[in-house]
Amino acid sequence: MDRNIIVAGGGAAGMCAAIYAARNGAKVTIIEKNKELGKKLSMTGNGRCNISNLNMSERMYNSASEKRMKQWLSVYGVLDVISFFKSLGIVVKSEDGYLYPLSGQAGSVVAAFENEIKRLGIEVLFGLQLKGIEPFSKGEQKKYRVLTNSDEYVADRVIIATGSLSGPKTTMSTGDGYFICKKLGMHIKDTYPALVGFKADPEEIMPEAGVRCQAEISFLLGTEVVAKEYGELQLTKDGISGIPVMQASSRVVKFLAEKKPIVASINFFPDYDEEDYIALEKEMLRLRDDRTLSDFLTGYFNSNVTDMIIRKMKMGRTMKMKNISESMVLSILDNYRNYRMKLDSDYGYQQSQVTTGGVSLGDVRDDMTFVLHDGIFVVGELLDVDGRCGGYNLQWAWTSGSIAGTVASL
Ligand SMILES: Cc1cc2nc3c(=O)[nH]c(=O)nc-3n(C[C@H](O)[C@H](O)[C@H](O)COP(=O)(O)OP(=O)(O)OC[C@H]3O[C@@H](n4cnc5c(N)ncnc54)[C@H](O)[C@@H]3O)c2cc1C
Repeated sequence: MDRNIIVAGGGAAGMCAAIYAARNGAKVTIIEKNKELGKKLSMTGNGRCNISNLNMSERMYNSASEKRMKQWLSVYGVLDVISFFKSLGIVVKSEDGYLYPLSGQAGSVVAAFENEIKRLGIEVLFGLQLKGIEPFSKGEQKKYRVLTNSDEYVADRVIIATGSLSGPKTTMSTGDGYFICKKLGMHIKDTYPALVGFKADPEEIMPEAGVRCQAEISFLLGTEVVAKEYGELQLTKDGISGIPVMQASSRVVKFLAEKKPIVASINFFPDYDEEDYIALEKEMLRLRDDRTLSDFLTGYFNSNVTDMIIRKMKMGRTMKMKNISESMVLSILDNYRNYRMKLDSDYGYQQSQVTTGGVSLGDVRDDMTFVLHDGIFVVGELLDVDGRCGGYNLQWAWTSGSIAGTVASL
């Protein structure tokens, strides 16, 4: 029997689910509240769309169950994504394992999805907002009434793919799905912005905005290291951002939201071993000449970072090497290795790439069906799964979407 399937949300996961279901012979309708498909997808990867990563593992995800993530990725992993994209006419290239369309354009990915949706005869209804789902029985059959901001529809299966709360202004991601799923009896794990930067204490505000440098950054709650990452750190005018901060963010946001005191400890010496450090310390102690501290350090560090440390230590840029005491040298170097900054808050959903939290994995079976209703599926970022930067979130959209689309059509 051809299933009549409604997919709510025409983003990455919803479009993927719709295509898999329609290729299996189902009659599929997508309802999308925006006026276009794949709005967020078109913005991914700085417009280049990092669709997945060859370095794929369940450990790249923040989820309630690594075991289940492993199982899902074994059903539909990175190689499946590459062949799926090939079937859409998109050739994929690897940059150190990070996968992008050969075109280098996220727009070409959206266009390929649109073409396939058209070719398969999938109906797309724009400007329709899912408001609720009411299960009912028709004879022996279970059916679902799909309530929207205008009409009501009836479907054999409903796939909820309405995404998260990240980027509300630019992508209309207002987290509608959480309320709809909650009304259906699902449990929603508290949500927070993730893959996001942090505002620092106003006392620590950095005029050195725009600095990018390699660093190792640890996030401390008292003496406990909550997260530790390495990479290109960005010092912004009111906080910190960049890949290592974003990668750590999902493990940190909850503490800040609970007003717990999180301190970032930055090591601007990440590639120096203890020997290099001691050699530098000795050199600074040996030099007793008229060179200024900043001139000397310019050969070692990003000058804006040096300015930041000198300012924090209230030393003055023109202080001469011969006037710096041994304890000052130790203190300067300690600041390069352990620059402490109290964090205030995250930059919020608008600046975040994903949302951590969402529909509990306990509410879905391995085939993405809701445990209380076989005909309701939940996919994508709406679920309590968020990945690291690097194509992992889209991989989750493809994995969950393809499984739901296939199973819904059976
Ligand atoms: C700036 C940015 C860059 C990113 N770059 C990458 C990257 O390079 N690689 C990567 O892996 N991940 C990236 N991500 C994350 C990735 O885009 C998301 O994880 C992914 O798009 C989630 O897919 P989804 O289908 O679950 O949700 P979405 O793609 O958000 O799709 C949800 C869809 O549902 C629609 N919708 C919402 N509510 C309703 C409703 N009530 N009724 C009907 N329709 C509704 C929305 O309009 C939307 O079209 C990035 C995110 C951002 C914000």
